[in-house]
This record gives sequence, C-alpha cells and structure tokens, in this order.
Amino acid sequence: MHEIVVNLHMHTRYSDGTGTHKDIAQAAIKTGLDAVIVTDHNVLVQGVEGYYRVDRSPSTPLRAGRVLLLVGQEVHDQDRDPQKNHLLVFNANRDVSMLADDPQTLINGINDAGGLSFLAHPNDPASPAFKETDISWEAWDVHGYTGIELWNGLSELKTVLHTKLHGAFYAFLPHFIAHHPMLETLQRWDDLLISGERVVAIGGSDAHALHMHMGPLQRVIFPYDLHFRTVNTHVLVTEPLTGDVPTDKKMIYEALAAGRCFVGYDLPASTRGFTFKGKGLEQSVVMGEEISARRGVTLQAHLPQPAEIRLIKDGQTINIWRDSQACAYSATEPGVYRVEAWKSYLGFKRGWIFSNPIYVR
Ligand SMILES: [Zn+2]
Ligand SMILES: [Zn+2]
Repeated sequence: MHEIVVNLHMHTRYSDGTGTHKDIAQAAIKTGLDAVIVTDHNVLVQGVEGYYRVDRSPSTPLRAGRVLLLVGQEVHDQDRDPQKNHLLVFNANRDVSMLADDPQTLINGINDAGGLSFLAHPNDPASPAFKETDISWEAWDVHGYTGIELWNGLSELKTVLHTKLHGAFYAFLPHFIAHHPMLETLQRWDDLLISGERVVAIGGSDAHALHMHMGPLQRVIFPYDLHFRTVNTHVLVTEPLTGDVPTDKKMIYEALAAGRCFVGYDLPASTRGFTFKGKGLEQSVVMGEEISARRGVTLQAHLPQPAEIRLIKDGQTINIWRDSQACAYSATEPGVYRVEAWKSYLGFKRGWIFSNPIYVR
C-alpha cells in the first residue's frame, strides 16, 4: 500500500468560493498534496480534471511539483427551507443535482452511476454573528451511502465564531481553530458502526478562500493553502500514482470506497506514515478491511511521532497508550476497532489522527 495525501471538499467561483481550479492546484502543489477533490455546489464542472504542474524556476524553487485535481460535487436541495442534507458526490461522472429533492433517491442514483457519496458536515451549527444557519444532515433514515465527513474545517470554525471579534481573531490566528471532529459526529459514526453499517470516515476542508471585510480590515480568510495544511484525508492506494489520470483516479476512489484511509490533522505535525493493521493467523488487513476473530487478531498502530493513542472498540475506549509511537493489542472478540491519536498543540490536546475501522468478525 502507498499513502497519498488528499484534500477534498472545496469550492471555486463555480459556486461560492473565490478561487479558480488553477489557484487550487497551485496551492495544493505548494503544500505538497498528492490530490485534491473539488466539489462545487450543485454543478459538476467539466474539462478541468487532470494533473497540474509547476516547474522548478528561480521564482518557484519550493513550489515545483504536480497534483492530481479531481472534480466531484456537493449536492443539496436548493428549494428546501431551512437548508440541510449536503451530500458530497465523487466519481458519478454525471451531474446528479436534479435528484437532490430526496436524499435517498439521490444516493440510489449515485450508486447506480458507480459513484461514492459522503454525508457532508453532519453536525454543522448556526453562527448567528455571521448570519450562518445550521446546515446539519437531518435525513438519518437514508442507507447505501459510502460514509460521512467526520471532520469538516468550516463547521468547526462556526463553533468558535461567537462574535465578530472572534471572527477577526481567528482570521488572523487560524492555527488556533481546529481541535477535533465534533463529538456528536464521532458518536453518530460509532452508533452507525455498532449497528452493523460500514461507514467510511473522511476529513474535508470545505475551503472557500472567502473574502472578509470588517471596517478597514480586508483579507482572504482561510485561504486554500491553509486548509491544505490542516485536515486531510490520507488514502492508501495499491500502487504509487502513475501520472495517468484514469488509472490514478480509479485507485483513489477504490480506496475511499473501501475505507482504506484516515483523517489526519497535519498542522501540528504531519500524519504521513501512520498505519493501523490487523494480523491473524492466516490473514493481514489494513483499515477498512475485515478479518476473522477466530484464534485472535493482533491490532497494531504506528505513528510518525509520539502522541496519545486510543483504541476504540464499538464506540468505547478500551486502551490508552500515552506518549507512544506504537501500540499492539490482542483482540479476541469480534467488534469494530478504530484508533485515534491526540497531540498537544498551542495549549490544547487536539485530535491528530482518526483511522477508519478494522472490522473483526
Ligand atoms: Zn455544505
Ligand atoms: Zn461545502
């Protein structure tokens, strides 16, 4: 398996973002991402997918590189009042926004088209100081979707914007914002996993590169490159990226569909290199996969740096290793096992890594 770093869920001028696809690609190359997935609201932008390159030159010595830019969409029913139920759609290869008035019909249509669907910002509170409403997911009776956006950069920002002054503070000191996925979303994910659903967790930035005007202050707040250094989805692909768009796109979407990925908050320290594996007598698996509990399974996690490692089984923390870089646990009971790592940064213990589960059956 080869790890690649993907930032997903972002907006351009085709919806309510301020940048172009080229701006996004350049920011992604600057921050060292392998791929980005752009998801404008209710439109599938054609003709922009592909590898973007910045060549090394005296003016761009640190920016040289390439990034794969893929295009999905974020679909919601624009006639619904209040606004709820935003769905991220990848790899459907056609615009599915005309199905948005019923979330289950939309998910079924995406599945028929061979696409993936993720419930976007499942808990997304209102921010009255900025006239932002609550746009949480409400249609929890749906089934057949791929997963949920466990950590959304913009939703978390809304939780700290109590007043305009808070807005100004975080606009200039954005490194203080991210703490962890919303606890309600983590609980909801565990509940779904306990009920027997396979639900893949991803992390999204919801980057818009918004312009803020407050009296004399004018600033692009939360630019794309800031988001790209923050919450990323690290994806385990079967081969290194080849440079061929259809091949690489297929590998990335296959891994996301299978849950071979983890959510990494890369600002305190890069989460590249994290692994979570299960070893049985006859079989070895990585996150997202299933293994038999018969004769026991050794679960092993390895971190790129020491942190607090928590092992969670069926929603309950069953072991904590403090200030550790690796851990091993002998699982004899069936269950859904996942790993979290927490790290101190700017005075708070913050969520650093959230793995997808290994399903011990
Ligand atoms: Zn949204
Ligand atoms: Zn969005």
